[in-house]
Amino acid sequence: MKEVFSDVQALDFNRNRFNIFDMYDNERVPFELVFDDICPVCGYGIDMGRDYTHKFHDISSDNQQECKVACIHLCGHCHKLFVTEHVMRRSKESYIEKGHTVYPIIVQHKEISDEIKKVSSDFENLYIQACSASAYGLKDIYGMALRKAFECLVKDYALFLNPKKEDEIVKKSLANCIRDYIENTKIVELCTSCRIIGNNETHWKNNNTADDIIFMEKVLGAVLHFIEQEMIVLDAKKFNDK
Ligand SMILES: [Zn+2]
Repeated sequence: MKEVFSDVQALDFNRNRFNIFDMYDNERVPFELVFDDICPVCGYGIDMGRDYTHKFHDISSDNQQECKVACIHLCGHCHKLFVTEHVMRRSKESYIEKGHTVYPIIVQHKEISDEIKKVSSDFENLYIQACSASAYGLKDIYGMALRKAFECLVKDYALFLNPKKEDEIVKKSLANCIRDYIENTKIVELCTSCRIIGNNETHWKNNNTADDIIFMEKVLGAVLHFIEQEMIVLDAKKFNDK
């Protein structure tokens, strides 16, 4: 039979710092919550220390090494509610925050320019799906999804530059598409790094470090930037040739 956990307790509002009354030792255990000071709904900065908040915790035992604190916030700008869930770890005389999640989860991603959309009609959708995986904590599939979006961008860019070679571009590997159809050496260099890191993400044994995937995000941003510049140069040539 399932038991419903019923020891969730409300905490009094007291800025960002407050105490939990310890039911066994008759002591108060302090801890401090970490907030991002931003509303996830409207994106405006909020001083959480001044934000009226209802807090709840699930400590029910003196021996509990980990607990959760949930806070309900009301944004002073958009007047929408949001929730922060904090995971706290007991450390000597206090609880230290291990991390927190903000609900609703907002997917953060770069704005995709019209130039990139002209090159690839599918990249933006795949890229946002990858960013969604990251926002929802699906770290093991984020890199693979990012790699798929990157491959789509490269193949569509190769096709944009060589519209009569669709049959061979479809069959070629990502590495060969980068080598055979992209002339800008900076884009080739960047795409090569992105491909190597992205491929590792799809392998049974992923040799990438956390820094590698962060580097891939940075490199992909640069790939987008240089493709945008190439597209603007093409538009300038068309304008000049009129
Ligand atoms: Zn807001």
